[in-house]
Amino acid sequence: MTTTTLMHKQLFIDGTWRDAAGGQTLDVVNPATEEIIATVPSAGRSDVDAAVVAARAALNGPWAGLSARERGRILWRIGEKLLEHADEVARLETLHNGKPIFESRQIEIPAAAECFQYYAGWADKIHGETIPVKGNFLTYTLREPVGVVAAIVPWNFPLLLTAWKVAPALACGNTVVIKPASQTPLTAFALAEVAQEAGLPPGVLNVITGPGAQVGRMIVEHPGIDKVAFTGDTTTGRQIMRGSADTLKRITLELGGKSPNIVFPDADLDAAVRGATTGIFYGKGEVCAAGSRLLVDRSIRDEFVDKVAARTRKMVPGDPLDPKTRLGAISSKTQLERDLKYIETAKREGATLVAGGSRADIGTGKGYFLQPTVFAGVNPEMTIAREEIFGPVLAAIEFADVDEAIARANATSYGLAAAIWTKDIKKAHRVARKLEAGTVWINTYNVYDTAAPFGGYKQSGFGREMSVHALEHYTQVKSVWVDLNP
Ligand code: NDP
Repeated sequence: MTTTTLMHKQLFIDGTWRDAAGGQTLDVVNPATEEIIATVPSAGRSDVDAAVVAARAALNGPWAGLSARERGRILWRIGEKLLEHADEVARLETLHNGKPIFESRQIEIPAAAECFQYYAGWADKIHGETIPVKGNFLTYTLREPVGVVAAIVPWNFPLLLTAWKVAPALACGNTVVIKPASQTPLTAFALAEVAQEAGLPPGVLNVITGPGAQVGRMIVEHPGIDKVAFTGDTTTGRQIMRGSADTLKRITLELGGKSPNIVFPDADLDAAVRGATTGIFYGKGEVCAAGSRLLVDRSIRDEFVDKVAARTRKMVPGDPLDPKTRLGAISSKTQLERDLKYIETAKREGATLVAGGSRADIGTGKGYFLQPTVFAGVNPEMTIAREEIFGPVLAAIEFADVDEAIARANATSYGLAAAIWTKDIKKAHRVARKLEAGTVWINTYNVYDTAAPFGGYKQSGFGREMSVHALEHYTQVKSVWVDLNP
């Protein structure tokens, strides 16, 4: 495994790079080697204030002075530049997160670039309407930016989830302060470099790093910020909702999940086996929409779970920088310990371990690797059936019939995603309507497109990212009345 030179990163505020005013820093660790690979500033209040002032000045200054079409061109160029630099950006994503370079380079960086280019197309197509009111008036609406937007981003898809927030925010004419996760801040800085190269005016995009409990909180409570777009833990989402109340900020929250992957006996079972494993093991299961509950019809339960377990046992974690690796390192020691604790709890509560279950070693004696893990015989009351593990741990639960499948799928406070495997087209659509989830996949799992909305039902949050729907969250509507009476 290659070692890396220690990187020293600076905050990006008003188009310039600077250390935190207090001079404090945080270490960034490569979870595959346990080495410190970078130091980043740990910002304080004056840094947050400076970023907000810069974002406000840009909002009312150079950014507002550009036409919507020019904004779109810059967004398009950000996408182009991300693709030009895709190799190095993907490498950074893998270094700080532990995800396979295959996922970073082939899927996520291109998807982030595509997100910028998708919203580049929207920039000059966001407009109001004229309204036929009673009386002699010309009444029309303006769709205006909400102002300064904070993007608070987790560590599982650092660049992609940033793009989901920043691209629509900029397309609508807002300015942005990004607060990446402390574990994975490097690609937010890479985005800032790319945006600068693409010609984004100073202050339109700012990057602030530091502990969420302090810096994130300052952002959430800051009177100069108009909206917070957040992805992360449900508990943090609740804190953000409380913290933003005093300033009545707009918020969108994309939170946790415990998504059901439902396999009916009439499914293409080999495809469903592949869907069950990619549904939970893509991104090491550190995916809010991970199909962590495998609901299987009782009549095929043993055969199906055996196949899933056999396929899982062939999946071996490896060096994330090796292009052949499909399962990387768990993103931190804390997360690995949390996964292992859930595995122990599952055993204690009587679930049957059929694959994995232990820490893995890729031959270096270092790194936070975990065998992909499958539990059978899980009942819906067990901890691993209820709580978001956020790791490569699958819980197989049986059901007796369609009604029980739906009831068990919905028996969770979450509602981010769900999948159905069946060849019966009517059943598929009937069940899709009954599932309490923001996304339902039929005979597939984990597919996304910038043109399709993504977000939660229930305690998985509210608001939609991507697609035309995201534009609603980054604009506000002004009604203008003109008296036409002679
Ligand atoms: P958090 O929700 O704490 O972190 C997400 C982002 O919010 C990070 O940038 C974090 O900063 C920031 N943050 C943390 N606390 C606050 C706060 N009080 N106010 C404002 N911002 C804040 O997730 P964790 O990293 O702590 O992960 C914990 C668990 O959350 C995981 O084990 C997993 O179960 C779940 N999770 C779910 C995700 C999802 O996509 N649904 C994504 C990530 C985690 P900092 O990194 O500096 O703490």
